[in-house]
Amino acid sequence: MPDYSIGVDMGGTNLRIAAITTDGQLLEKITLGVKVAMGRDYVIAEMCDAIHRLTEQYRSTGRFVGAGIGVPGIIDMETGMMRKSANLPGWSDYPVRNVIEHHLGAKVFLDNDANVAALGEKWLGAGRDADNMAMLTLGTGIGGAIVLGGKLFYGLSGMAGEFGHVTVVPDGVPCGCGNRGCAERYASATAIVRMAREAIESGQAPELARAANADPEFSAKSIYNLAIQGDGAAQRIFERFGEVLGILLADLVNVLDLDMYVIGGGVVSAWDAFAPRMFAELRERSLVYAASAPDDSMAKKGASAQIASYAKKKTIITQALLGSDAGLYGAARIPASR
Ligand SMILES: [Zn+2]
Repeated sequence: MPDYSIGVDMGGTNLRIAAITTDGQLLEKITLGVKVAMGRDYVIAEMCDAIHRLTEQYRSTGRFVGAGIGVPGIIDMETGMMRKSANLPGWSDYPVRNVIEHHLGAKVFLDNDANVAALGEKWLGAGRDADNMAMLTLGTGIGGAIVLGGKLFYGLSGMAGEFGHVTVVPDGVPCGCGNRGCAERYASATAIVRMAREAIESGQAPELARAANADPEFSAKSIYNLAIQGDGAAQRIFERFGEVLGILLADLVNVLDLDMYVIGGGVVSAWDAFAPRMFAELRERSLVYAASAPDDSMAKKGASAQIASYAKKKTIITQALLGSDAGLYGAARIPASR
């Protein structure tokens, strides 16, 4: 019987836990109705109880090699403490990893949620055949991670891959990080809703205004629905989204020249509304992408007018495959790969 590990995805809305064998077979997946708002100690106790139940249940399956936990925040990888998390007040400077290890009596690994999602896609998703890849998770913000030679690249402070906070508009919208004009202020689910509300206030978006009035949970999804029905104001929002994402990707491709860039997160389902503009920006702005673009038949402007696609290996920019399970698989992968 194969060994197995536990992956935990600590999202903002619920807590998901999976038992996964070291060769990638899902044994069981559970969702706890535990919200992080219920407080740190309660969440940790419920998580450990659920992990205990799973390890008891699969005791005869194989050896339990440990648990990996993806958390929305900045983690000090050496101490296993959280340094900063907008969504988890009360968790900062608390020895999360050690406390959970003590509860479980097993090895525990804590990592950033964007990092574990990238590991999941690398292990069993879109990045299976890519040794060098980056992942962008488009959701409330933009999560980012870099995988080099099959391993996460952490950088000096453990914060490598903060793509969401790359400046794309010098004097743009203020960001929670303290900067202005960060990419995630234009290319995230939150940004779509903000841009829609601004369009409504300007009086130029009657259909969006109607949708916002009718729907108390006016979301990126409702704005996408209007865009595919042909509403110009909604389409312009996804154009702007695609433009900024294209600028960000052009910068990443120029700097990193990786095999693959995987785009995940809830907003990726609006791919057809933003991707054409995203690819147009890439072709125009990145010489490196122009040299390695899989499709060389498009109109040649900017960088792509300077160089033909000559590289034998092509840059792949693609959608994630595992959806919201990427983080679960990736978290489980950490103890399994040690
Ligand atoms: Zn920022």
